[in-house]
Amino acid sequence: AETSDRLSAFLSSGIYRLESCNAVFIDPVRVLNRSYSRFRVSPSMYYSRFFDSKQEDQESRFSSNSRKRKRKEKQPHALNERERSADERHQEARPLLLKAHESLLEATDLLSVICNLRNDVCSLTESEESLPRVEQSFVELGRVWQAPLYEIILHFHQHCNPSGDGSSPLIRYKEERVIPIFNNLVVNETSDNVEAEFLNSRYVIPRESCFYMSDLRQIHNLIPAESDCGFSLIVVDPPWENKSASQKLVYSTLPNRYFLSLPIKKLTHTEGALIALWVTNREKLRGFVEKELFPAWGVSYAATFYWLKVKSDGSLISDLDLFHHRPYECLLLGYCHGEGMDSEYQSRLKPLQDNQVIISIPGDYSRKPPIGELLMEYVPELKPARCIELFAREMLAGWISWGNEPLHFQELRYFRGT
Ligand code: SAH
Repeated sequence: AETSDRLSAFLSSGIYRLESCNAVFIDPVRVLNRSYSRFRVSPSMYYSRFFDSKQEDQESRFSSNSRKRKRKEKQPHALNERERSADERHQEARPLLLKAHESLLEATDLLSVICNLRNDVCSLTESEESLPRVEQSFVELGRVWQAPLYEIILHFHQHCNPSGDGSSPLIRYKEERVIPIFNNLVVNETSDNVEAEFLNSRYVIPRESCFYMSDLRQIHNLIPAESDCGFSLIVVDPPWENKSASQKLVYSTLPNRYFLSLPIKKLTHTEGALIALWVTNREKLRGFVEKELFPAWGVSYAATFYWLKVKSDGSLISDLDLFHHRPYECLLLGYCHGEGMDSEYQSRLKPLQDNQVIISIPGDYSRKPPIGELLMEYVPELKPARCIELFAREMLAGWISWGNEPLHFQELRYFRGT
């Protein structure tokens, strides 16, 4: 009975708590769907990789290549200092990851659902897919001199029951708002999804969400006038530079020093904030975050979570010990103290459990699973939590999304009708 409880909880929440270890499996599609009522995220658009299909799987091809490459070119060599500390970190994570993976493989009820996660009922876009399509490059449009002139149209549908007793039919009010799309806070304050239009594309905006689409240069516009309007949860996924030439780059990257001046402290609420930072496995980057970035932000390190990537059959996307292509990424967590925090503050927070493992089947390149909900129990008391995602490519109910393309995955083609 307990297993079926877990499974039914998963089917509605998208989160499955694995037995006897510090790990969860999540289905991002189900988690994201909680932001929508009239739309559904399309599983086949989300899970563009790692499901058996005609297309050869990019990543596994890559990993077998690199294994070959290793065998051919690289003679076993003594590790240099940086490689040694990277290996130490890996050896520390290894048993946790293996244990989490083992419990996933033991959850047979879950596995039988996982292999079908990609199955769509119907796709909104089937007819459109055959048409050649131009993807909107917000990054390019935001750079041109005409950027301030570009506008987005929001179509609000308001449902209203005049007598309030449910007896008379609903009256629908329509309202259209036309507002600048760049360097402007675009808000859907209603409790319903909103459809939006921009150049010839359509977008879906979750209830109670907003976005601010701009370059890093305008990020100061997000700093609240009063610090008690700041944020209590800040998720950051910076465009880290990646030296590996084999990785297909889908967005431009920035040198590490650019991130030192992100105004994390100024974005933090007086009651403090939980900061969650995605990092790559480059050892140099880990050192930079620990020694320079967190201190510069005023963040004290609290814990590391691991995102373990699996395929639809539950197997890891690559060999766990593959040096340059690990099947996991890390999320570093820390607290930024607010002005109003006293010394006992930290003790009132629920202790943040280190080494949690989040397992999922990856979506598009470098798209991260939505982890907000898993973090909510560790967010400073403020209710409701005030959440912001920096360098976002998607939106969530209750969140502000900032980046130079926060509408990217909101395009209608990523959704299907209900
Ligand atoms: N977390 C996202 C991935 C973020 S990738 C996801 O799960 O999908 C990093 C993002 O930073 C990309 O969208 C990239 O376009 C954006 N970015 C790169 N340079 C930027 C800049 N100068 N200002 C704002 N955003 C930038």
